[in-house]
Amino acid sequence: MEQIRKTTEIKAEPVMENPLPETIDTLFTRCRLAAMAGGRLSVIENGALTVSGEKIAWVGENKDLPRDFGSRCETVVDCRNRWLLPGFVDCHTHLVWAGSRSPEFEMRVRGVGYEDIAKQGGGILSTVRATRAASRETLLDLASKRVKTLASKGVTTLEIKSGYGLDLETELKLLDVVGDLAKTFPLHIEPTFLGAHALPPEFRGDPEGYLSLIINVMLPKVKAQGIATAVDVFCERMAFSLEDTRKIFEAATALGFRVKLHAEQFSDSHGAALAALFKALSCDHLEYLSPSGAEAMAKHKVTAVLLPGAFYYLKEKQKPPVQTLRDLKIPMALATDLNPGSSPVFSMTLILNMACLLFGLTCEEALLGATLNGAKALGLDRTKGSLEPGKDADLVVWDIDDPADLCCFTGHDPVARVMIKGRFLYLDI
Ligand SMILES: [Zn+2]
Repeated sequence: MEQIRKTTEIKAEPVMENPLPETIDTLFTRCRLAAMAGGRLSVIENGALTVSGEKIAWVGENKDLPRDFGSRCETVVDCRNRWLLPGFVDCHTHLVWAGSRSPEFEMRVRGVGYEDIAKQGGGILSTVRATRAASRETLLDLASKRVKTLASKGVTTLEIKSGYGLDLETELKLLDVVGDLAKTFPLHIEPTFLGAHALPPEFRGDPEGYLSLIINVMLPKVKAQGIATAVDVFCERMAFSLEDTRKIFEAATALGFRVKLHAEQFSDSHGAALAALFKALSCDHLEYLSPSGAEAMAKHKVTAVLLPGAFYYLKEKQKPPVQTLRDLKIPMALATDLNPGSSPVFSMTLILNMACLLFGLTCEEALLGATLNGAKALGLDRTKGSLEPGKDADLVVWDIDDPADLCCFTGHDPVARVMIKGRFLYLDI
């Protein structure tokens, strides 16, 4: 355990090049920092970090602290050589759902094909049925447990999509639950409207009808209620076409939403290039991303969100073109894609491991993907994702020997402390 000392004495000290603030709430001493500043691990051995209010105030080496500095701080955390990293940014989840898809998993393990499972009522639509039937209270209770689990494993910023309602009432209910989660938990939560996740059963044979519902009814209502900041679409043969996606993006951007896209997961639908034209925050999955799609993403500074959990669970073979993304300097973010079917994954460290072993990311790339580039994917990199003065004090003390431990070990999330916006997180799980 860290030693925590409390004192109220605060004295002024001379201003230096990297000035120490006069008011310090928390001082982390004797830590090793992987600050993720400037798109690198940016390690500081023998480091220290101070927090004032909700922000990181100073980052540097222990030796640069005045000798009596601890006495100026409300709380001193002696990290005893542990590692301090920015909190994880999980920038792609479908965290609010009801029902279980584990029986489907069991069927798949026994060799039943995906289409046969869908014919028996499985897949996304089975989650839609269960979610429509669940009360708001039940959904909030289920989702709260999931948020707590993610936070206990070092996530401090989270994106949550709707998309298991597929009717006006349930989509609004899901986004209301996301709003309740944001009020209940100290994590920063970004709500995304994903009405275009799948064609609901009542519109089978009438995709134009559902498209019209999304564009003319759902989007204006979601905008009027202020319950989402971005709009996502699942652009794929079995979901929404490129032309459908264009129409939804036109309507969404006209209302002032940022857009993002589930793009090129099972085929090259040319979604990434379209999303880039709409200055999308991110294109996500990207296993079948073409060179021209990647160039469009680079040109319009779209972040690539890689989701190795879904690749793993679906036993896919085609990997995203990581070397092309590197060559074009497209930021690569990582996320759990937490959902009950294709990526029931609650651990960002497991995602780091998968990104390294399945997609060939380096440990540094993976750690950046889970922090600074995750923040980029949400348009939050000015305030989140790295340990730099002026940014939100969202950080995790890890009981590890090296940052690469977070990529190497699985089934082990050795979180020692979590701080969000300058306050320590205590989770009653
Ligand atoms: Zn997804």
